[in-house]
Amino acid sequence: MSTKITIAIDGYSACGKSTLAKALAKALDYSFIDSGAMYRGASLFFHRLGYVSEKHIDREAIENAIKDLKLCFKIDNAKNCLYLHNENIEDEIRQAHVANIVSKVATIKAVRVALVKQQQRMGQNGGIVMDGRDIGSIVFPNAQLKLFVTASPEIRAQRRFAELQEKGIPQSLEEVRSNLTKRDHVDSTREESPLIQVKDAIVLDNSTLTKKEQLEWVLEKAKTIIRSNH
Ligand code: C5P
Repeated sequence: MSTKITIAIDGYSACGKSTLAKALAKALDYSFIDSGAMYRGASLFFHRLGYVSEKHIDREAIENAIKDLKLCFKIDNAKNCLYLHNENIEDEIRQAHVANIVSKVATIKAVRVALVKQQQRMGQNGGIVMDGRDIGSIVFPNAQLKLFVTASPEIRAQRRFAELQEKGIPQSLEEVRSNLTKRDHVDSTREESPLIQVKDAIVLDNSTLTKKEQLEWVLEKAKTIIRSNH
């Protein structure tokens, strides 16, 4: 039997979930899926079709068009990138026009059903680390290791601001802070699969931890579970 486990990482926006998930997957030789990128990719697709902007959203049009959405991950220059049909959209999905609409799009049930189905297919054989908002609750409720990551709002804003600056994506600290606050609110109060801390999740507050310290902490937990699964 496979000893590869499933690891679900949930938490608020910009608390370093993807960075941790990516490093963990690399250390374990597992695959890594950034489910948030998929919601961003779907949002970009609907935005280009004119169905959603910061001011409006046509839910019915989105529900009808979801069947035409084709997202996949491919390695480009040693980097895991999201593709929409045949286009690498990894950079565009981090920009403000997507960040400002994604939580609205993510409230639509038809969108969630389609993306969750694809995510479950990607993780059907285990050996996966996936991060998002509903991974431990909806996508992989049987994951052997579930983490709920959190950090103080100001630290999260500073980290995301620095990350965007490094990528050359122009956004002020104030814009970043406001986007995170709004997304956290919508994500944790929506009707469909809200962000929750499931009972069997281990909480990791990384406000004062370095990336290396976090990785060591989680790796230890993962290895203990993998050993006991043998
Ligand atoms: O993880 P990231 O911040 O890139 O996610 C962008 C948005 O996608 C979140 O704010 C949330 O609205 C949505 N999302 C979700 N469920 C997930 C992952 C992301 O609703 N599993």
